[in-house]
Amino acid sequence: MKKTGIETTCVQGGYTAANGEPRQFPIVQSTTFRYETGEAMSKLFDLEANGYFYSRLQNPTCDTVAKKICELEGGSAAMLTSSGQAANFFSIFNIASAGDHVVCSSAIYGGTFNLFSVTMKKMGIDFTFLTPDCTAEELDTAFRPNTKALFGETISNPSLKVLDFEKFVAAANKHGVPLIVDNTFATPVNCRPFEHGAHIVTHSTTKYLDGHGSAVGGCIVDSGTFDWMAHKDKYPGLCTPDESYHGVTYAERFGNEGAFITKATAQLMRDFGSIQSPMNAYILNLGLESLHVRMPRHCENGLAVATYLKNHEKIAWVRYPSLEGDEDFALAEKYLPNGSCGVVSFGVRGGRAAAEKFMSALRLASIETHVADARTCCLHPASTTHRQMNDEELEAAGVSADLIRYSCGIENKDDLIADIAAALETV
Ligand SMILES: *Cc1c(COP(=O)(O)O)cnc(C)c1O
Repeated sequence: MKKTGIETTCVQGGYTAANGEPRQFPIVQSTTFRYETGEAMSKLFDLEANGYFYSRLQNPTCDTVAKKICELEGGSAAMLTSSGQAANFFSIFNIASAGDHVVCSSAIYGGTFNLFSVTMKKMGIDFTFLTPDCTAEELDTAFRPNTKALFGETISNPSLKVLDFEKFVAAANKHGVPLIVDNTFATPVNCRPFEHGAHIVTHSTTKYLDGHGSAVGGCIVDSGTFDWMAHKDKYPGLCTPDESYHGVTYAERFGNEGAFITKATAQLMRDFGSIQSPMNAYILNLGLESLHVRMPRHCENGLAVATYLKNHEKIAWVRYPSLEGDEDFALAEKYLPNGSCGVVSFGVRGGRAAAEKFMSALRLASIETHVADARTCCLHPASTTHRQMNDEELEAAGVSADLIRYSCGIENKDDLIADIAAALETV
């Protein structure tokens, strides 16, 4: 069948009911699967046959939803994970181990920064962080012989920097490593990183993809375009036999299209068990069915709120990539022509005290450790999600002490602006 439009894929991707089968795919709420012979089962364990045997590794409901996200991103293979954190962890740990190094944009989500700079550092993986505004030369010199990946976010949470794909892809290709992009804020409706040359995409599906604040989850999608065997010495985990899987060489057996996700499933999911529950995958899919309808409204509200704030005397500064005059407006025009997201970052004059007064006076927007939801919510990252970072790290991540992250839902934009106006009166 011809590749369908993104709207059709949101609704119908990943699953086609055969004659007499349920129109909505079933929730396979089963930990295990029955086989008639021991031999049939052992073929699965040798990765010689396809099939399910234990839901710690793979589950049909999860795979159906992963397939839809794979189609939305235009990838070759995908897997769901229990959270966005697990997705980003797997995406790196699948190709890097103790003694290796990764180059990373400093404008990333606080949780990812902690994962990389503290927890994965303890595992012996070293990260070099540099501002996404760096020059091509600065990016170039960050690479070392043991660098295994380049990582960034399409639109960073919460600093809203837009990734310069051209610069990052060029560096990744020059140094023979995959560019891994966390596409959580843009979603495949507004940006498909593979079309710009990225190799692997991750998501916190907890955000827009679910969109209703219902299910924590993550996803990894592989483009299938990175040639592992051409960099054989750098990626022994993919290019030499896996003794924990009876000597299978992933890049040979599954090709560039399947090697990365098969290895992440067979090794990392087997050993860490960070699988999404089938029930959560089902809930996630209900969100995906309206993603293409919700995203334009999130963007419309985001632009309206950003425009209002820009002209307000009590607002010190506003960041919204799709707002004319924004420092990343040109990048947004280039990579996010349909809109960026619903998240607006800004500072209220009067610093932290004013920010707190403002936030608690809001009535429609609620204070939450959440973002990218149908309901409008807001947060002061410096005192919450990014609390573990010191001032230097906060600055590198683009999170100033007065930054408020305001995530526009899909309510009426005039109501949101009236709510903000009334709250600013109290400051
Ligand atoms: C929330 C978020 C994550 C972490 O996802 P969880 O589902 O909360 O584990 C990773 N990256 C970005 C950009 C996020 O916004």
